[in-house]
Amino acid sequence: MKNLDKYLSLLGEQVDGLLLTSRYSRHYGAEFDIAEGVAIVSKKGCRYFTDSRYIEAAQNGIRDFEVLMTDREHPYSQLLNEAIADFGITALGYEENYLTVAEFNEYVADLNAKLIPMHTEISGFRHVKEPWELDIIRQAQAMADKAFSEVLTRIKAGMTEKELQAEIIYCLYKNGGEGLSFDPIVVSGPNTSLPHGVATDRVIREGDFVTMDFGLMLQGYCSDMTRTVAIGYATDEMKKVYNTVLQAQLAGIAATRAGVKGKEVDAAARKVIADAGYGEYFGHGYGHGLGMEVHEAPNCNPSGNTVMQPGMVTSAEPGIYLPGKFGVRIEDVVIFTADGCENITKSPKDLIII
Ligand code: ZN
Ligand code: ZN
Repeated sequence: MKNLDKYLSLLGEQVDGLLLTSRYSRHYGAEFDIAEGVAIVSKKGCRYFTDSRYIEAAQNGIRDFEVLMTDREHPYSQLLNEAIADFGITALGYEENYLTVAEFNEYVADLNAKLIPMHTEISGFRHVKEPWELDIIRQAQAMADKAFSEVLTRIKAGMTEKELQAEIIYCLYKNGGEGLSFDPIVVSGPNTSLPHGVATDRVIREGDFVTMDFGLMLQGYCSDMTRTVAIGYATDEMKKVYNTVLQAQLAGIAATRAGVKGKEVDAAARKVIADAGYGEYFGHGYGHGLGMEVHEAPNCNPSGNTVMQPGMVTSAEPGIYLPGKFGVRIEDVVIFTADGCENITKSPKDLIII
């Protein structure tokens, strides 16, 4: 089924048009990524508006929408009203999670159609990925795995967290990344107890853990992975915590299959950490959905009530964080299948000591 047909299936008595403002839904509906623009979908016609910076790419790449240019004389609201009149639209479903208050107020004042919040319905189609989307995500993750194998040859005691962060970014782009899923997280030594710490000028030393969490963008889709390595040596306590996190992740992956709820996957991993006595040091969820956004529904966390379906993609990232001492996180990305999952992150997970 074409993505546009999924959007068209939302049209009926409640709304007879959709206003797509987020980059994600425009990309999804048009199956082509344009950084800025607005699109309108109806059964009588679909139009895609963007400005002079993107118009040529949009006209070349977008098939199922009429592509028109906005400029000072033709603001989005005017072009939208023309479409509303031409297609006889009375009520537009819009993405309340992706509009500023100012934009919303402007549309309410200017548009000749009622606005109905429909973020949940519009974004819901993205939970189960199409085969072509899975191919891009697999490819993005393979590039990140390759980048990580190169990063491993560059990590050295004496470099700062920021210097290592720069090496990671370089390797991600060099291996085909078109952007970053997020600023890479690089933390070392006692900073590794900060799950989402920011890279600092701290010098990496012998006996440190170094946690690296990073991802690249490819054709508008994200990869995401985390590895924790030791520099020089690891104490028995470091090894014990590392192996507990690894066993928790493997337990989560073993519980991953279509038909279970996200929270059941989380619970399988969380039990391993709790049984080892570290329950209070695993504060975040086991996994989040990802695709066009690095964090999107559905989640595998303690409140994850979604029954997982084949084609859903989530991270698998338990962690243990001991304040003032050190922390460990290991993160892969998995695709849910009918009887299990496909782990698309191939980098090794046994403790690497550099
Ligand atoms: Zn991550
Ligand atoms: Zn993640």
